[in-house]
Amino acid sequence: MTPTRILVLNSGSSSVKYQLLDMRDRTRLAVGLVEKIGEDTSALAHTPLLGENAGRKRVQETRFADHAEALKAVAEELTADGIGLDSPELAAIGHRVVHGGLKFSAPTVITDEVMAEIERLVPVAPLHNPANITGIKTAQALRPDLPQVAVFDTAFHTTMPEYAARYAIDVETADAHRIRRYGFHGTSHAYVSRKTAELLGKTPEEVNVIVLHLGNGASASAVAGGRCVDTSMGLTPLEGLVMGTRSGDLDPAVIFHLERVAGMSTDEIDTLLNKKSGLVGLCGDNDMREIRRRIDAGDKQAALAFEIYIHRLKKYIGAYSAVLGKVDAVAFTAGVGENAAPVREAAVAGLEELGLAVDADLNSVRSDEPRLISPEYARVAVAVVPTDEELEIATQVYDLVSK
Ligand code: AMP
Repeated sequence: MTPTRILVLNSGSSSVKYQLLDMRDRTRLAVGLVEKIGEDTSALAHTPLLGENAGRKRVQETRFADHAEALKAVAEELTADGIGLDSPELAAIGHRVVHGGLKFSAPTVITDEVMAEIERLVPVAPLHNPANITGIKTAQALRPDLPQVAVFDTAFHTTMPEYAARYAIDVETADAHRIRRYGFHGTSHAYVSRKTAELLGKTPEEVNVIVLHLGNGASASAVAGGRCVDTSMGLTPLEGLVMGTRSGDLDPAVIFHLERVAGMSTDEIDTLLNKKSGLVGLCGDNDMREIRRRIDAGDKQAALAFEIYIHRLKKYIGAYSAVLGKVDAVAFTAGVGENAAPVREAAVAGLEELGLAVDADLNSVRSDEPRLISPEYARVAVAVVPTDEELEIATQVYDLVSK
């Protein structure tokens, strides 16, 4: 029997998100999340999606000291559902790895050399790569015989031309410290741009798409004929759009000012810009549902935060229209992009000269399916395309190992 199952792991510093998929028909067999690993009480929420317990979430609250204990508990849950990780049907384990630098432009079977390179990239992804490394080592210990495959968040963006990827700073300093724009959310941008082409009845090569991945983290990308030519995140996921808790673009001199005038340390500034800025910094909330509720209740601070968020988004739509020259579609995705009709409406309002418009009725439809929300007459299609990073990772991993 050819193994067709793929386990996808997305390991954070204290969490692991996982999905087990069967790639014969691309169905999900189980999904789950372990949180608060290393804390007094960790939580494992596991949901089988097939069999007699399908859809019944099981929650365990107990302490998992480390990722190894957490993954062991996940393995036990899967075994209880009859889809254990010791099954010969498991083909590979796919890992989301945030930073792949310039070396990794495709999914990669993890060897000692690949692992060493992911470790070398820790200085440019100090929050993410160490957690990914822990996840990989834990999974390797669990099934040393299986291919472990890394799928990099940066991979889709390695096609960016040099003039879009380089910052205009001293070249020697930049190269010595690998300072350049890498971009993130690449798996999502790849999946959504391809799905958008499909929605238009075209191949990816035939269309130019602006993808707006608007979740708690947010990024935009310009995709020309299936290849990324620009994206809003940079050396780290801090650059670009206004996000849930991150500032996005700002004058770098703000940092000197905070240091020299406000007397803040580098770590304090890092926390300020990554965790206490964006929507939460502007109005105290980072959930778009709550912000809309406050706006409807007449809250001026929430209204201003929304305007700043939309203003930045419009600037990127305009910039990427110019970068692409011809745009076939703008696609909204992720938590905010898929669910917040007012964000989509406001982001496109007034951009008729760019060929953009939204049909109010279509925009208000709620659905899990990719769909068009622009009126017939609009020159540029506006689409809502739900992202599915786990399916994309599983697909890339399966394509690689089943060759
Ligand atoms: P993500 O990072 O893609 O999971 O997106 C999470 C964010 O999506 C949340 O912080 C909310 O701001 C937003 N979100 C989720 N559901 C909705 C909704 N129904 N309406 C508006 N925003 C939503």
